[in-house]
Amino acid sequence: MSSQSTKPSGDNRCPECGGRMEKVIVSETFEVPGGKRVTVDGLMPEKCVSCGEFVYTEEEAQRVREAIAIKLQKAAA
Ligand SMILES: [Zn+2]
Repeated sequence: MSSQSTKPSGDNRCPECGGRMEKVIVSETFEVPGGKRVTVDGLMPEKCVSCGEFVYTEEEAQRVREAIAIKLQKAAA
């Protein structure tokens, strides 16, 4: 917890249709340079309840990058 000013969760609107966003937990497979595929579990993007659009916050996007980097390191070891 910190006093940084972040947008309150659950108050975001879908960039596609303006619908309500809901936090969901998903696994996603990302293609990384070199043609490898990396699956990251336990991601928490927001999903539009109207059109199904997924939106990652900057914080989640950062988590994704870190998770991919760790998995690639393990794969290379
Ligand atoms: Zn939408």
